[in-house]
Amino acid sequence: MPAHEHSAHSMTHALPSYLNPDDVGPWGTYLQQVDRVTPYLGSLARWVETLKRPKRILIVDVPIEMDDGSIAHFEGYRVQHNLSRGPGKGGVRFHQDVTLSEVMALSAWMSIKNAAVNVPYGGAKGGIRVDPRKLSKGELERLTRRYTSEIGLLIGPSKDIPAPDVNTNAQTMAWMMDTYSMNTGSTATGVVTGKPVDLGGSLGRVEATGRGVFTVGVEAAKLIGLPIEGARIAVQGFGNVGGTAGKLFADAGAKVVAVQDHTGSISNVNGLDVAALLAHVRDQGGVGGFAGAQAIEAEDFWSVDCDILIPAALEGQINKDNAQRIKAKMVIEGANGPTTPEADDILHDKGVLVLPDVIANAGGVTVSYFEWVQDFSSFFWSEEEINARLVRIMQEAFGAVWQVAQENKVSLRTATFIVACKRILHAREMRGLYP
Ligand code: GLU
Repeated sequence: MPAHEHSAHSMTHALPSYLNPDDVGPWGTYLQQVDRVTPYLGSLARWVETLKRPKRILIVDVPIEMDDGSIAHFEGYRVQHNLSRGPGKGGVRFHQDVTLSEVMALSAWMSIKNAAVNVPYGGAKGGIRVDPRKLSKGELERLTRRYTSEIGLLIGPSKDIPAPDVNTNAQTMAWMMDTYSMNTGSTATGVVTGKPVDLGGSLGRVEATGRGVFTVGVEAAKLIGLPIEGARIAVQGFGNVGGTAGKLFADAGAKVVAVQDHTGSISNVNGLDVAALLAHVRDQGGVGGFAGAQAIEAEDFWSVDCDILIPAALEGQINKDNAQRIKAKMVIEGANGPTTPEADDILHDKGVLVLPDVIANAGGVTVSYFEWVQDFSSFFWSEEEINARLVRIMQEAFGAVWQVAQENKVSLRTATFIVACKRILHAREMRGLYP
């Protein structure tokens, strides 16, 4: 194109080189979800391009000394997708398959999720490409501290607040909080959430994501006339999210009939003993080898006879290869991005109700918000108060999304995106462009 044809308009649509429009990974999934919602945004559609490019991407080298004296280098990321509604907020993931496309998508889903439940945050996410199971505790601490120092440019209690995600926990957050505090000469508890309760953490935070999954599941089940008592549940991933959700459903009279994680796939048509399975996972690191169940093939997990399927592991698990075989009436996305757009369409055609990640798993960040508020005011709430507020927010947000879905005859995912994108883009429009 001749130079004079570089009009302002055509420049808007020239993508930065790292934004590949043909991305088939998680970021590609997210872009398709945004395209599906654009026709419902009215005049705010003018701003939609904002959602298709992260505001800031930081890639860092994280070198650490290993226990054997060698030096190892790991890739680290922190992406701030959108800050229109408040500081960045979102977890940090340690996993051997972490990529930039993945962290970008996860940061964007945080923007949508935070707006959907109306907590005053933008969206961000971080990750390190590492298999933490191969590191000693000392190596993990050095990795976490060096990563925190490297992303110190971006994070802060009113800038961007990390939290736990896959393979990170309260201990990881304690190291991050300490490192940031040492670097800034303060005790900055509000720089991360998901901290240990004795260090400015919140009661109820550990269970919050699973409790939110359970809460919206119960609401949706009422609406479609599915009794929880006796409902058969299959759960993929039995960590913080899947384990808690499974326990809450079992306590409410449902039967957990199949569970899959990275150590194996198990089933018991009479319902697994969830308390015993949680103890087994704590001791053995996964569900594989659990005595109270039968081992099944990984592929057969997807065709298990069940009423509710809860993917609570990683992205892209429900895809065009297995969606057709799913027998559940309802899918509750505990994980972020577990269903590809093709699978979404297949499930829709089969009449399976999908409760999307951006509302279903928002309980975690909701209690992260409570933790951050408690840290700022140095005044801590009771667990009853936290759980009651969490349930109320989840029920109200889900009810609003359900109504938008009915009014527009769209899926719950598109409805959640409609609610969230309108909130984000309205804030964007009101703030205006600077300079
Ligand atoms: N990692 C969780 C999520 O994906 C929680 C994020 C947070 O609490 O900031 O929603």
